[in-house]
Amino acid sequence: MALSPALAPADALPPYTNLWAYRKRFAEAAPILMYHKIGSPPHGVRFRGLYLPTWLLARQLCEWKANGWASVGLEEFVRPSRPIRKRVCLTFDDGYASLHQEALPLLVEQGFRAIVFLVPERIGGFNEWDLAIGEKPAALMDEVQIREWMQAGHEIGGHTLTHASLPRLTLSEARREIVDGKKKLEDRFGRSIEHFSYPYGDWNPQIRDLVAEAGYRTACTVERGINGVGVDPFLLRRITACRPPRTLRTLFGLMSG
Ligand SMILES: [Zn+2]
Repeated sequence: MALSPALAPADALPPYTNLWAYRKRFAEAAPILMYHKIGSPPHGVRFRGLYLPTWLLARQLCEWKANGWASVGLEEFVRPSRPIRKRVCLTFDDGYASLHQEALPLLVEQGFRAIVFLVPERIGGFNEWDLAIGEKPAALMDEVQIREWMQAGHEIGGHTLTHASLPRLTLSEARREIVDGKKKLEDRFGRSIEHFSYPYGDWNPQIRDLVAEAGYRTACTVERGINGVGVDPFLLRRITACRPPRTLRTLFGLMSG
């Protein structure tokens, strides 16, 4: 059973591959894109959909730039009073080392900014939370890599202390994961941490309120959709960037020569 209440109305948006397919929906409001790992999935990986090939990220950034799009921060979603045109918000969950190796050079080259949601107790380690469900370990950025990310003009946000599924915890445990996770990042990196992403997208109204009380200004879910005027900044929808189905990839390849 799903842990999080659905954000009505349900929005039947497909995962994001290219701008052309989304041009009408993205004219309504700025989309928040969600990424995890960049590169080809290693052999034996269970959740291949969490990998976006480097070439596809490069193509997405080029397409936005060629069409006059720029990146925007999550701060723009705190109280949107009007639709934001030709802006995209790029979010990366967990802080994988592949973000530093593969995505960072592309973002710098194309002039886009992004935010990564970090798990402070796992910095320099790997995705321990995934091993219990049979996933292979993947390296997370270490402190030096995170500092390079910040020096390139990118943001960091919170993703709890240990990547906990918050609704499964007692309220005091959940508060500790949210509040201490924020403070630990602030102490280590010397900047205010204002944006949050719910691990696994799991939330409920009490968890949402804990995040707001902790001093965060926005929180991202994994609910798919676009955020219009009047959106709750602690229940932001996102769109997963993923590789197109094989048939479309073939077409895509032919079209691009
Ligand atoms: Zn995560």
